[in-house]
Amino acid sequence: MKKIRLAHLYPKLLNIYGDGGNILTLKKRCEWRGIHIEIDEINIGDSIDEHDIYFIGGGQDKQQIEVSKELQKHKEFLLAERDRMSVFLGICGGYQLFGEYYQPNNGERLLGIGLLDAYTIAGDKRFIGNVTIKTDLVEPNTLVGFENHSGLTYLRGDTQPIGKVIIGNGNNGKDSFEGARYKNVFGTYLHGSFLPKNPHFADYLIELALGTKPEPIDDRIEFGTHNSLINKAY
Ligand code: GLN
Repeated sequence: MKKIRLAHLYPKLLNIYGDGGNILTLKKRCEWRGIHIEIDEINIGDSIDEHDIYFIGGGQDKQQIEVSKELQKHKEFLLAERDRMSVFLGICGGYQLFGEYYQPNNGERLLGIGLLDAYTIAGDKRFIGNVTIKTDLVEPNTLVGFENHSGLTYLRGDTQPIGKVIIGNGNNGKDSFEGARYKNVFGTYLHGSFLPKNPHFADYLIELALGTKPEPIDDRIEFGTHNSLINKAY
């Protein structure tokens, strides 16, 4: 039987705006196909061993401070996991900690773990609202979600965006890019939660983790929701 090991990083601290729904989506989309999925919650003080997928949600600056410190203990291991082509998905605050650093408006710089060549500096306003992006990673080529962040993220080097913003602000409201990808590490500002409304992206992550394309399933309800949100600003 096909099997996936998924590590849910710091769910007690970074799990805002329903980001845990991403775990439920991956769980169900594997189980519906008879793919065995083992989900391990990794909390402060826990060790981390090899997994096929790592997920981290978003959160307020305060929670990010604690997770930033804890992640430094696992930086070398997680960089090696990235280079072993394990799959990572970070949402918003978790995405920011996948980069080099996150500089909040007030307070010390939070160190990331450098899975992505990116950095984030808090802006003077919050970006809040629906987001639609165009992407080359999946078909259909749209991704939808909801953003709520003050952080402005800038990409460098070989780290590429997930897509271009059609509605919303994305990484920084200036370069029209949203999200980031390097190797099999993905970050996005899309809450909502992200994967239930973008089943094709969930299946893309499962495909990368398994090494084979998962069989199609009936996604009429999921894409009905997805399509109802495309280009919907409010
Ligand atoms: N605290 C970070 C910011 O405001 C991340 C917020 C979030 O995860 N929604 O940019």
